[in-house]
Amino acid sequence: MDVRNGFVGAIGNTPLIKLEKASALTGRTILGKAEFLNPGGSVKDRAALAIIRDAEARGVLKPGGTIVEGTAGNTGIGLALVGNALGYKTIIVMPETQSQEKKDTLRLVGADLRLVPAVPYKDPGNYVHVSRRIAEETGGVWANQFDNTANRDGHYATTGQEIWTQTDGRVDAFTCATGTGGTLAGVSRALKEKNPAVKIVLADPMGSALFSWKTTGELKAEGTSITEGIGQGRVTANLEGADLDDAVQVDDIDALKVVFDLVREEGLVLGGSSGINVAAAMRVAETLPEGSTVVTILCDGGQRYQSKLFNPAFLREKGLPTPDWME
Ligand code: PMP
Repeated sequence: MDVRNGFVGAIGNTPLIKLEKASALTGRTILGKAEFLNPGGSVKDRAALAIIRDAEARGVLKPGGTIVEGTAGNTGIGLALVGNALGYKTIIVMPETQSQEKKDTLRLVGADLRLVPAVPYKDPGNYVHVSRRIAEETGGVWANQFDNTANRDGHYATTGQEIWTQTDGRVDAFTCATGTGGTLAGVSRALKEKNPAVKIVLADPMGSALFSWKTTGELKAEGTSITEGIGQGRVTANLEGADLDDAVQVDDIDALKVVFDLVREEGLVLGGSSGINVAAAMRVAETLPEGSTVVTILCDGGQRYQSKLFNPAFLREKGLPTPDWME
């Protein structure tokens, strides 16, 4: 029988999808790792599982225990679902600006959801700090996805190895955006270990400080983005020391054009970070010889952002173009 054992067994081993139109347009092969097909619907199922397994192994997470985390939503959904499958409770702290769909999902799966105002990391009211304090006060285990390197180790052990195996080692470049940096750093380490010539490129939305950090050495952010779960104002412990060759910056107009093309021309309904990633992969592809292969991450599904990315009124309010077919 070809069976996966429960929710946990269904995480990972996602397909690598050749994006036909992006490949035809660039004359290179663009492959998307279909992380939206994880059972919790995003790439963050992997980090959630890796963090929980690490906490169990260290003996800090005991049967029936509680996991506390600050999240843009996807890590919370992953933690709550892995928690349900393994018998842990979850308290999830999320900035109130994140999509209604993610909040609804967290409530639906039984997480104790606490919404907080979206304030910068330096503010003690930031969701990350609030989650740490709740963990301290309740005796719960703080997942700490940004600085807990079990996150990138999970991507090293799974996502990165899968990409190498699935491409038979014929991968010339990898690019993705970062929230915690776990995916980028873990995949980078796995691929560079196999072949140091694989080019690793950080994809950054506007409003994030990492493009400037990689290209000038200075953490500096400009502009804003409606994408969720990505962009960062600091070098997290997960990102620290990652072997990165370059960075590209993608604005919302370019990312949304890709998101809409993916729906209409490839049949893939994906979130905004996937738009940033595929747009970046196409740009990286054009710097490589014809026939090269670029891999990126399809992080989560567009249904999670129906009220935003796929809502003409929201897009107009943000001054962003809406495709004709959406009106
Ligand atoms: N895309 C989405 C939709 C996410 O939720 C996240 C995680 N916050 C990322 C991309 C970035 O992944 P990572 O945290 O591994 O950098």
